Amino acid sequence: MASQFVIGVDLGGTKLAGGLVDQDLRVHHRVQRPVDGRDALTLLDTVQHAVQELINEAPGEVSAVGFGIPSLFDRRTGTSVVAINLPLDNLPFEALMTERLDLPVAVDNDGNVAALAEHRAGAGVGVDDMLLLTIGTGIGGGLILGGNIYRGWIGSGAELGHMVIDLHGPPCQGNCPNNGCLETMASGTALGREARQLAAERPDSALGRALSAGREVDGRLVTELAYDGDPAALAVIKLIAHRLGVALASYVNIFNPELIVLGGGVMAAGEMLLEPVRALIAARALPPSRDNVRVLPAYFGPEAGMIGAAALAFDALDDRTPDGEAREEAQ
Ligand SMILES: [Zn+2]
Repeated sequence: MASQFVIGVDLGGTKLAGGLVDQDLRVHHRVQRPVDGRDALTLLDTVQHAVQELINEAPGEVSAVGFGIPSLFDRRTGTSVVAINLPLDNLPFEALMTERLDLPVAVDNDGNVAALAEHRAGAGVGVDDMLLLTIGTGIGGGLILGGNIYRGWIGSGAELGHMVIDLHGPPCQGNCPNNGCLETMASGTALGREARQLAAERPDSALGRALSAGREVDGRLVTELAYDGDPAALAVIKLIAHRLGVALASYVNIFNPELIVLGGGVMAAGEMLLEPVRALIAARALPPSRDNVRVLPAYFGPEAGMIGAAALAFDALDDRTPDGEAREEAQ
């Protein structure tokens, strides 16, 4: 049997969240650190010190460390190839952290580990075919197919946010050279952009008045005003839901998932967003897949990455022990 504790680290663009996690994926101790994205060495130091603090807090032996990083990853070499907000480009992250920590290290994309967290301990427990979208500043994706994370050939697949839904749409965000990706059409960033535009067009709406009053019109404010019943704010949520629904209908046709889990900041809109998304899947996807798919909010909030990274670390330990294969079969 694998040991009792691992450490899960969610390395985000602005902060690191780490946890000391047991085999039932319960978090015993947490650390948070602001992340200085200026250079790789400072970043690696920050990560190392945070992990060391968690090791010091552990009542027993820590056996491995798992990382979820906002990066496209080449699993053949353990190299972070392209990262959006952190100086991780072409960095052999896995080897560097193994050397610094002197522990087994497992690394994966942040979307993949969030999907793993939902699959093992969240909304997707007992579901072998599911997909997850984390809808925040961007849109992260993760796929669980046949009970395992699906990563593609070298590990950089499952970028569900970069499916094009508008051929002539706006340029995508970050390093994506495409136009009209779901990420640039339906993320929290898109929600804010559409809201500011509609606010300017409808100055008499609550949304319009907020803009005139100099308030920051972002996803949070739109959601707040939509809950208050402002028709303009509701229209923006509906527009984003419509775009999400179009994308999800395609995923339903392609993957025939049992479950779709939606997380991230935009999900603060709850049923206002989920209900039109479900209706669109019902209207646009193919039978019988559309009639057999559930769409649920994520169980985990900001700790999804940390908990998924810990699950990844336990999996890596299992792969190293002779009975690892047997445990995988038993699940
Ligand atoms: Zn894109």
